[in-house]
Amino acid sequence: MPTLERFLVNHKVCSWRTVRSRISSGRVRLNGACASDGKIQIDSLNDCVEFDGKILSPCRELYFMLNKKAGFVCSSVSDRHKTVYSVFPEESLFPENLSPLHCIGRLDCDTEGLLILTTDGEFSHYVASPDNNIIKTYSVTLAEPVSEELAEKYSESFMNGVMLPAEKKFPRQFCSKAEIKWEGMFPSVRCSLSISEGKFHEVKRLFRAVGNDVVNLKRTSIGALKLDPALEPGEYRELSDCEVEMLRRKV
Ligand code: URA
Repeated sequence: MPTLERFLVNHKVCSWRTVRSRISSGRVRLNGACASDGKIQIDSLNDCVEFDGKILSPCRELYFMLNKKAGFVCSSVSDRHKTVYSVFPEESLFPENLSPLHCIGRLDCDTEGLLILTTDGEFSHYVASPDNNIIKTYSVTLAEPVSEELAEKYSESFMNGVMLPAEKKFPRQFCSKAEIKWEGMFPSVRCSLSISEGKFHEVKRLFRAVGNDVVNLKRTSIGALKLDPALEPGEYRELSDCEVEMLRRKV
């Protein structure tokens, strides 16, 4: 759900610089009443917004789930790799009267799995913000098999939080509480890991901190939203209204 300000800017009736003065000078009406608060979130499909007496066309925000393929980057341009945006048609990337489609958070080039893309900036802020404690779960394959005894040690240190090693321009950082579930027989290289933050290379750095390496990484869920098993790598589908609401309400 966009703010009233964003709705007006997307409809190109004013710019970000002028939007406040347009509202405070009484030129905007929301559901028949003079609007005063540009930060209010509106239902862009059902609320009626008027500018200078003209009704602005309602629009439906876009929400997609993509099963990201390894080898694709989450940035909009790259000279070395394909980008996740290349699988979407132009009309979804730059829809009329909406913000451009963007990823909620990023997955590394070699990471696969669940990526949400949306035109709804407020929604993506909500889902990505660590304050909202939305758990992201990853399926992990490690380089070094882990014995039952070592697995216990990993689980304990991850529950207490781990200092992530510095990487590239990112300094050492504290990763608070990660929950690990081991799969298969010990010694095991497979587990699932749940975290609520989205720090740079967080899962890879977590395992590096305990002396192991991640060789395969796939995101399987974000909050209650699970990667649709019907989606092949590289395929996407729209999220249902119910799935969007479920993430918004942290069901
Ligand atoms: N953690 C990582 O290390 N990489 C990802 O792509 C996502 C989380």
